[in-house]
Amino acid sequence: MTQVDLKFCFLSVRQNFILRTLDLGSARWSVPACVILSPGFLGQVFLGWSAGFGHTGRMAHLPPVERMLSELVAVPSVSSVDARLDQSNRGVVDRLAGWSETLGARVTVEKVTGPLAAGRADMWNLMASWGPDMPGRGLVLSGHTDTVPFDDRPAAQGGWKSDPFAVTPVQDGAALAGLGTADMKGFFGVALDVMSRVSADRLRQPVTLLATADEESSMAGARALMDGGLPLGDWVVVGEPTGLVPIHKHKGIVKDRIVLRGSSGHSSDPRLGRSALEGMREVLNGIDAFRTEIQAKFRDVDFDPPEPTVNLGTIHGGDAPNRICAECELKIDIRLVPGMDSEAMRQDLRGRIAAIAGRLGLEVEFHEIFVEPPFAAKVNSPLVSTAASLSGAEPACVCFGTEAPFFRAMDMDVVIWGPGDIRVAHRVDEFVERATLSRAGELLGGLLHRFCVEEQPVETARQVLGGQP
Ligand SMILES: [Zn+2]
Repeated sequence: MTQVDLKFCFLSVRQNFILRTLDLGSARWSVPACVILSPGFLGQVFLGWSAGFGHTGRMAHLPPVERMLSELVAVPSVSSVDARLDQSNRGVVDRLAGWSETLGARVTVEKVTGPLAAGRADMWNLMASWGPDMPGRGLVLSGHTDTVPFDDRPAAQGGWKSDPFAVTPVQDGAALAGLGTADMKGFFGVALDVMSRVSADRLRQPVTLLATADEESSMAGARALMDGGLPLGDWVVVGEPTGLVPIHKHKGIVKDRIVLRGSSGHSSDPRLGRSALEGMREVLNGIDAFRTEIQAKFRDVDFDPPEPTVNLGTIHGGDAPNRICAECELKIDIRLVPGMDSEAMRQDLRGRIAAIAGRLGLEVEFHEIFVEPPFAAKVNSPLVSTAASLSGAEPACVCFGTEAPFFRAMDMDVVIWGPGDIRVAHRVDEFVERATLSRAGELLGGLLHRFCVEEQPVETARQVLGGQP
C-alpha cells in the first residue's frame, strides 16, 4: 500500500491504542479517543475501530462504502442454472479488483472452469491480498459476487418497489434497498473500507479479500478453490448476512433428480407397458424408509428441527390418463446435520432406488442438482470466540447453506459473520440497514486488528483443531 498512514490506522505507539469515531445524528465527527484494552478484554470494550463511513479518516482514492455498494448493485451478476437468467460475475470482480489495486493489493483473478461451469456464463474468482507475502496464511474476508434472480414484474403484482439494480434509501433513510445489498454485496464495501484504513506495513499477517463465483447456484467458485488445493489462509470470515451473529454450524444439502423410465402402452391392459409412475410409488416408499432410518440415527439439538429432513419437492410423469406412464421424474432435497457424510448418504439412497427400479424392470437415472456438506466449526475456535466476543453475541446455528464447508475442508478456522438479515435476502425489496454496515466495519476492523496486527499471535485452525476438517 502506498498511501500514508492516517490517524485511523493502527497506532504504533501502543498496540492496544484504538480510536473511536463518534456518530451523532446526521453530523459525523472523527474524534480521537484512547481506550486501553487489556488482553482478554477485547470484546467487551471494543468500539474502537473507526467505521467512519463516508467521511475523512481513510486512505485516499476509494469511494465511500455506500457508493461502492451502489456500483456493485448496478452491475448485474445473477447466477442461475436457467441459461435465460444466468449472467457472468466479471463486472463485479473487475470493480473489486480495481478498488483493491487502488489500495495496493496483490490481485489475482481466475476463471472458474470444470463441469459446474460448463455451459454457464463466465465465472471468476478474485483474490486480493495485503501485508506480508505469505501465501496460505493470515485472515481471509470472503464473499460471493453473485445474486439470485429477481422478481421481474410490476410492484402492484408483487415485484420490486424500486429498481433492483440501484441502491435506494428506504425506511426513512435507515436502510438501502437493492438486489444483493444484504446478500452480499454490502460486505464487500465494508471489507474494502476496512482495508482502506489499514496501513499494510502494520500487518503482521496477510489479509485477503476473496470474492467467489456462483455461490447461489452451484458454489463452483468455492469448490474450484478447494479442488485447486492452494491454501488461502488460516482464518476466514464468510460475510453472509447473519445480523453480525457469528455462525459456527449449518446443515448440509443434497438435491437430486431421479428419473424412472419404463414403456408406454394402452391403459386398458397394464401388461402392455411398464409404468414409471407405479414404480415411483415404490421409490417414494423407499425414500420414506430411508428418512425414518436417518432421522433415528442422526440428530443435532442445536438445530430446529434437530433431525435431518427429506423434502419431496417436485414430481412429474405421464401425459394422458389412457396411456401407461413411460417416464416419471422426482426432485428431492435432503438437509443433513453435522456428522453425516453427504456423499455416502446420497450413494446409500441411490443404491436403494436402483434396487427398486431393477426389481420392477425400470431404468433409472440420477442427476446431481447440488451437494454441500454440513458445516461445523468449533464453538471455541479462536476465530468464532473472537467474533462472539467482539459482537457480544453467542455463536449460533442456521439452516441455510454457505461456502463455509469448503473452507473448513481446507483446514481453515471459519466463521460465518456478516451484515444484513437473511430473512430479507432472496426476496423483493431486499435491503441492508446502514447501521449494520457501519457496525460491521467496526467489528471487522477489530477482528483484523486482533488477528493481523497485534503482536500476540492467534492460534490457527491447524494448531487448535488438529487439522481435521
Ligand atoms: Zn449469500
